[in-house]
Amino acid sequence: MKYENSLTFARQMDEKDELRAYRSQFHLPIQKNGQAYVYLCGNSLGLQPKTVEAALQQELLDWKNLGVEGHFHAKNPWMPYHEFLTHAMAKVVGAKPEEVVVMNTLTVNLHLMMVSFYRPKNKRNKILIEADAFPSDKYAAESQIRFHGLDPKECLIELKARPGEVCLRHEDIQQVIENQGDEIALVMLGNTNYYTGQYFDIKKITEWGHAKGCFVGFDCAHGAGNMPLNLHESNCDFAVWCNYKYLNSGPGGMGGAYVHERHHHDAAIPRFEGWWGHNKTTRFKMRDAFDPMPTTEAWQLSNPPILAMAAVWASLKIFDEAGMDRLRKKAIALTGYMEFLVKSLGDDVINIITPSDPKQRGSQLSIQVKNADKKLFEIITEKGVIADWREPDVIRVAPVPMYNSFEDVFNFYEILKRAIIN
Ligand SMILES: *Cc1c(COP(=O)(O)O)cnc(C)c1O
Repeated sequence: MKYENSLTFARQMDEKDELRAYRSQFHLPIQKNGQAYVYLCGNSLGLQPKTVEAALQQELLDWKNLGVEGHFHAKNPWMPYHEFLTHAMAKVVGAKPEEVVVMNTLTVNLHLMMVSFYRPKNKRNKILIEADAFPSDKYAAESQIRFHGLDPKECLIELKARPGEVCLRHEDIQQVIENQGDEIALVMLGNTNYYTGQYFDIKKITEWGHAKGCFVGFDCAHGAGNMPLNLHESNCDFAVWCNYKYLNSGPGGMGGAYVHERHHHDAAIPRFEGWWGHNKTTRFKMRDAFDPMPTTEAWQLSNPPILAMAAVWASLKIFDEAGMDRLRKKAIALTGYMEFLVKSLGDDVINIITPSDPKQRGSQLSIQVKNADKKLFEIITEKGVIADWREPDVIRVAPVPMYNSFEDVFNFYEILKRAIIN
């Protein structure tokens, strides 16, 4: 695509954007001067859909008027409530509805999945993760290793970028799996990487891991609602994600989990179990031995928090309508425009550590500003940009296709340029 460095061009792009109307379905944070912020933090906490308030009100009203009867007689009965979300959730992550469930929060789900898919045995007792994995993922993996009486120093293999490089190379990941696969019980990578914005090829990594007899799972916190994940087709064993980043379900909002259907009827898979994973037709008889749902719902523990669930559902309805294909198409153009503008500041001033190949990234650029410190970030915040700063010198920005405009991207660039020149 041919981009131009002008506000007129940005506005023309917005006029042509078939998703432009979605911006008005979200609340944009407002500055003290009454203007909306340029919000580029949807990779950290997505904005509030305007429909969320009414969705929560509905559940409060039904609770108020019906009490426990709401489980069956609420407008959206609470008993099967999670099922209302499944179809749209499955579409977002590219899975069969039976393979997906909205439950718990991300790190909780990661633990539940590791209970099932990290089963160290003899020499095959290791977990492969990224060296710069999100801290929670690393803590979770290390504590699982210790839970099995093993030592993380020996059992955690960390994938490191080559000296002088920031992103991992796929051929290096393949090499490690090739060389050490016989000792790896679980390959568990983030997808997309939260720091660099690098996307990993789920299908290929799964193939490499499976060829060596490893289980392969992904943390898609930064992938869900951002990239076309095609989880089913990619054949990975499990995936987990949160719904509050690109998926706009509110602070601390609920997570999701995917388990490939081939594991649904495998009685040998260990699992931490609770009543919501029990066959729903007999769940309330209470006395039966555990009879798991024949779907990923078997991993559910508790009856879910309906208020939190209502927010996820409100957001998923918007995703279902906009569609991941159209969102992805816009994301490529929008992130490409951001890259084009930022690069015009010159290689001597900035370095984008996110891969330049659109296939290897989603809606995020991690921009390193030479010789900058946090003051630069404070200036752009004061000028109306909400972004994210990572020590020592990286600004992370996410122009998300759902509600960001090309004009947002241009405004960010202008503010950054002025802050750097000053
Ligand atoms: C955001 C994020 C988390 C946060 O975990 P919670 O359990 O939702 O608090 C964990 N891992 C990754 C990779 C993330 O991006």
